Amino acid sequence: MKIGVPKEIKKREFRVGMTPSSVREAVRLGHEVVVETNAGAGVDLTNDDYIEAGATIVERAEEAFEADLIVKVKEPQLPECARLTKGQTLFTYLHLAADKPQAEALMASGCTAIAYETVTGNHGGLPLLRPMSEVAGRMSVQVGAWALEASQGGRGVLLGGVPGVSAANVVILGGGVSGFNAAQMAVGAHADVELFDVNLMRLEELDALFKNQVQTVFSNPTAVYEAITRADLVIGAVLVPGGKAPKLVTRDMLKDMKKGAVLVDIAIDQGGCFETSKPTTHDEPIYEVDGVVHYCVANMPGAVPRTSTFALNNVTLPHTLSIANNGAVEAMRRDPHLLNGLNVMDGKITYEAVARDLDLEY
Ligand code: NAD
Repeated sequence: MKIGVPKEIKKREFRVGMTPSSVREAVRLGHEVVVETNAGAGVDLTNDDYIEAGATIVERAEEAFEADLIVKVKEPQLPECARLTKGQTLFTYLHLAADKPQAEALMASGCTAIAYETVTGNHGGLPLLRPMSEVAGRMSVQVGAWALEASQGGRGVLLGGVPGVSAANVVILGGGVSGFNAAQMAVGAHADVELFDVNLMRLEELDALFKNQVQTVFSNPTAVYEAITRADLVIGAVLVPGGKAPKLVTRDMLKDMKKGAVLVDIAIDQGGCFETSKPTTHDEPIYEVDGVVHYCVANMPGAVPRTSTFALNNVTLPHTLSIANNGAVEAMRRDPHLLNGLNVMDGKITYEAVARDLDLEY
């Protein structure tokens, strides 16, 4: 099969759909891979790296879009949708439920579109979203430490303190994928860490994993209020599947927090778990409300595109190869988890929640 890897055209998107090692694997299995020139330049993957892996470099996006299978990272922009035709398979993040123009353009193209974010896995969850939660969780402590610096309006405390001076108090709300990864980094930085969740079984797992390095706490409004008033850094990492994030910290509570404390809202892509959160960008990531610094970047992994590209390829490659080896229809017939990723086929939306949210025929 011919696989195309175009350069991402969405603003400030530096990730690339396939790494050279993924290309090498596809070529080894007898597939042809065409990569648009400089597709990996934003993450220091050169045309020579791809040529060495067996790819052909093409000068124009159109040529990469002529392949049977197109592997990308971001949802296709409208000019990209216009290049897709019947018989082609698109494998990428789509997030269609919030993007009717894209959904209609993909339907009009006749292509088969498989969305990373709805592919399921043997162990439950959404394994193609998981690496991005891992990245965001780990980054949350890094950006929180930066925002705590006095020059950013923060309290001017070092996460780990120093001998003779207390470590910062880090409160993490939500102990799922991103919260667990945040806790790992905060522990590594020698901070004093409290980890909240509403799922008691999850708290038991976390307690066993972290032993006495982290204080696990059952999340309820009183416990959250008490914790945030003593916190230097609060990380919001909650998720209620399919719903908006619950507002765990209200505006009224901010006045009882320490001046210069920092709120990092990872859950901002689901509306945020702090009442005062509003989405920010990597260009202007922080703002202040009532003396509390807020960091609410909705695409945190975009700041570390190299790590994110490799992390994404680790989980997408087996599916990419299965589609290339078997064709999309047979690959989905063999793997119901991949079938769950199918969002558009033969001009129709094939994912019920997307059709419902967009009021389109299913
Ligand atoms: P997850 O499902 O693995 O974990 C969420 C946890 O929150 C669960 O353990 C759940 O029990 C817990 N929870 C639910 N309600 C709670 C409450 N009231 N108090 C305490 N805990 C509660 O989810 P995840 O993969 O860690 O993702 C978390 C959020 O981060 C999602 O909204 C996800 O979309 C988002 N995310 C954002 C970025 C970004 O760049 N900002 C990147 C990746 C993921």
